[in-house]
Amino acid sequence: MNILDFFEKFKDEKACKEYLRDLRMKEGVICKHCGSKKHYWLASKWQFQCSSCSFRTTLKSGTVMENSNLSVRKWFLIMLFMTSTKKGMSACEIKRQMEHSRYNTVLSVMHRIRDLMGKRDNMYQLNDMIEFDEGYFETEVSEKVRSNLKRGKGSQRQLNVAVMAESVPLENLDTGQKSKSCRFFKMRVLEDQSAEAINNVVKGSINEKSIVFTDRSASYVDIEKYIEVHVMEKSTPEVTKETLKWVHIAISNAKRNFLGVYHKIKGENLQRYLNEFVYKVNRRYFNSVFERLLVASVFPYWYNSD
Ligand SMILES: [Zn+2]
Repeated sequence: MNILDFFEKFKDEKACKEYLRDLRMKEGVICKHCGSKKHYWLASKWQFQCSSCSFRTTLKSGTVMENSNLSVRKWFLIMLFMTSTKKGMSACEIKRQMEHSRYNTVLSVMHRIRDLMGKRDNMYQLNDMIEFDEGYFETEVSEKVRSNLKRGKGSQRQLNVAVMAESVPLENLDTGQKSKSCRFFKMRVLEDQSAEAINNVVKGSINEKSIVFTDRSASYVDIEKYIEVHVMEKSTPEVTKETLKWVHIAISNAKRNFLGVYHKIKGENLQRYLNEFVYKVNRRYFNSVFERLLVASVFPYWYNSD
């Protein structure tokens, strides 16, 4: 969906609310009181009513928009801005485009959407053949974090990110030429440099039947416990270009993207920016990432706990 389609389909707040109502009816509403999935639409109140216990659910409750005062249309617009360009947009730019007065509102909405993108991608594990490596991302240390560090020096800190890519070797049967096609990626900020931090990421991100390629690092000693086969290769320029080709491309693209769009990224928010980057890369061949994000935003199982 481009900007023109958006303004035709979502011309005012009412059109957006009707779309949201229909989408939620289709995807399902779960009653926070009794857990029932059967609801009626109370047209006079603009709320869903549970058919078992009569508990009412507002249009935004149980979605990514829960407890937000921002209009549905502005939420949709922010989701459109975040997904309509490959590079993404800063909160500052979106604030300006929407003529919204408060920067912090826009930023916190964008962070919620980034959390949502992460949740969505966490539903899937990587499969088959996987390249695994680490990238170091420069982040800003916020005041809050700096005062907690023992020797609170320096405003920059490098964070270690595990980067994984499903990478399938291909061979052209006529020419014998070899290449690799890449499917899905994952990027996770590591808690520290320990083998345990790596193990946790591998357990959570990679299917146990997979074959994983890494370079030789002491942190990778245990990962074979959690997968089918672990292939370690000594780090050389060839390994970088061949065995770990896609993870390295992803790391440099992510870094270039962050430098170009965002002024500074705070360490505690790095995972969110990675979520957005990976979400879009994983859907690079999809037609409407925006519409898929709308569906994810009302997924009934994520926002029903509190
Ligand atoms: Zn109920």
